[in-house]
Amino acid sequence: MSVIPSPKVLEKMLNQVSDLIFLISPDFKFMFANHAYINYMKLPPKKITKKSINDVIPAEYIPMLKKKFNNLSINKTSFDNIYPSLLDDGSIIIEKWHNEGIFDENGTLLYYYCIGNIKKQTKQQLLNSETDLVSNTLIKFTMIGIIISIENEITYINKRSYSILGLPEKGFEYPLNIRDFFESIAPNYTNQILLDKENSDTTINEIQFSHPQKGIIWLSVIRKTQKFNGKETELFILEDITERKNNELETVNTRKRLDEVMRVAKIGYWEKDFENDCWIWSNEIYRIYGIPHETPIFDKTIRSYIAPVMVSKRKKRSALSYKQKRFSFYFEYKILTADGSIKWLSGEAFRKDGRFYGWLQDITERKNIEKALLKAKTKAEESERLKSIFLANMSHEIRTPLNAILGFSDLLTSTKNPAEKENYKKIIHDSSNILLKIIDDILNFSLIESGKLELYPETLTVKEILSNISNIYQKHKQDRVKLNIQSCEENIPITVDRERLVQVFINLIDNSFKYTERGSINVEYKLDKDHVIFSVVDTGKGIPNNAIGQIFDRFYQADAFSKGTGLGLSISRSIIRQMKGEFTVESEPGKGSKFSFTLPLKKQIAA
Ligand code: ADP
Repeated sequence: MSVIPSPKVLEKMLNQVSDLIFLISPDFKFMFANHAYINYMKLPPKKITKKSINDVIPAEYIPMLKKKFNNLSINKTSFDNIYPSLLDDGSIIIEKWHNEGIFDENGTLLYYYCIGNIKKQTKQQLLNSETDLVSNTLIKFTMIGIIISIENEITYINKRSYSILGLPEKGFEYPLNIRDFFESIAPNYTNQILLDKENSDTTINEIQFSHPQKGIIWLSVIRKTQKFNGKETELFILEDITERKNNELETVNTRKRLDEVMRVAKIGYWEKDFENDCWIWSNEIYRIYGIPHETPIFDKTIRSYIAPVMVSKRKKRSALSYKQKRFSFYFEYKILTADGSIKWLSGEAFRKDGRFYGWLQDITERKNIEKALLKAKTKAEESERLKSIFLANMSHEIRTPLNAILGFSDLLTSTKNPAEKENYKKIIHDSSNILLKIIDDILNFSLIESGKLELYPETLTVKEILSNISNIYQKHKQDRVKLNIQSCEENIPITVDRERLVQVFINLIDNSFKYTERGSINVEYKLDKDHVIFSVVDTGKGIPNNAIGQIFDRFYQADAFSKGTGLGLSISRSIIRQMKGEFTVESEPGKGSKFSFTLPLKKQIAA
């Protein structure tokens, strides 16, 4: 059975070791530091926890450290630091730190774990007992090359430097000028390594070096400049960082690939930065919002892009999840991006260990497709429903006049009474006309649906058309509902298919007769710029407001019990559109309807 030591025991153990160890929280506060660290930093014991690293670690290292820690929390890698310093007595102190993040099973960062090694060597030790040094005390630092120069002359190179650079030992004669030395091993980087002496006493360069045996490797060259006994002394630390660099490059490539995947999938990462009260966004979120990268993002920035109704929703949802101590929640909202387009975003937020973070995806395309599909589905369903009603109606509509024709044809042969015969003949004639109209509608409709309705245009005048219609409705002039057709004395030429135009008029006038009990039906025309507008106005039952938008749809009937195919207006509109005109309808239920359509006038050729 394994027994996990209690935190107290662990703490005791950590306090015994000579390595410097401390833990810091994701917001950079000390959670623990062992005795070795407290002693080394000369801190008052027990007061370290909850202290910010800003109060303990020298300020010059803080920005770089925070950046590296933040990277570590995202990439889940570790990193090593080396801080060399040359003391006044000529000895060297080398701090070597290894830093890692400890994550829970969900990958959430719990704390950073830092372990450091401090080695101090006197100048004498460095010069006299390097074998000793390498084999004993500096065993942990055998990876590090050390070069010391005083007033630009190299006074010391350790053995490790030779093997790092792949050079035979004692390959150099002292004193050796430091510039000459770097010129001979890395000419392309000499200026870079020796530059900027004034600006900083420590410089770090990562350079590519052509190793005689290993080929191209990566070297870290740390240079520390100090005055020592009035002389300018420089300490160079060389380290082969090829493995780390390759890992880093691999990480960069992985990140690039990840970024690419995120860009294609339109997914981004975000996190709340409580310390600065702002939001950290990955590139993709900037792209989604259309905001330049690196723009600082505050609450008010985000609010200014989100549709107002969604802002309060977003606030409520966040507050609720906070109240319910929920670990995570999904969300969806709409934004107006910087370039004015509307986007739908969805995402997930996680709240854990004082952090608030998550992902966000642009789902506009999906939303639009969903909407279009829904619309198409509703339309298809409506069309299906209307078609079924149409088929049911048709069998009834066809059977009624057909039964009348068959029934009265029988009676016609059996009766001798001339008055009855006349009556039966009229019924048969009227029923045949109704049947013909139904069959005509269906034929026209199928022609229009298959795009095969052909027009035969000719130039006619408005006068000719109106008198043509007047002739057709000659008999109806005496009806209970009076039909008035405006006469026309002007010469107004239009290019139309006569038969089809007359068909449209018949549809409209027959409808008016069908839906008008009393009053009148007026057929009128009016000129408007380069158009003529024809109208059929009745005093009938009118069309309910909620139906007016649909009466031109195929199979639509405002009143499911009315006679007809529900195709007349749809066919009429198609014909008029094919003749470059447009239909409009105005109606007041109980008062009447006005159907109007325009037709272009034939252009008069100037004499
Ligand atoms: P229908 O064969 O049913 O008349 P239409 O396409 O010609 O088919 O007309 C569609 C619907 O528009 C009609 O069912 C009716 O509800 C309405 N409608 C058309 N004309 C009129 C009108 N003049 N007055 C009232 N309603 C009308």
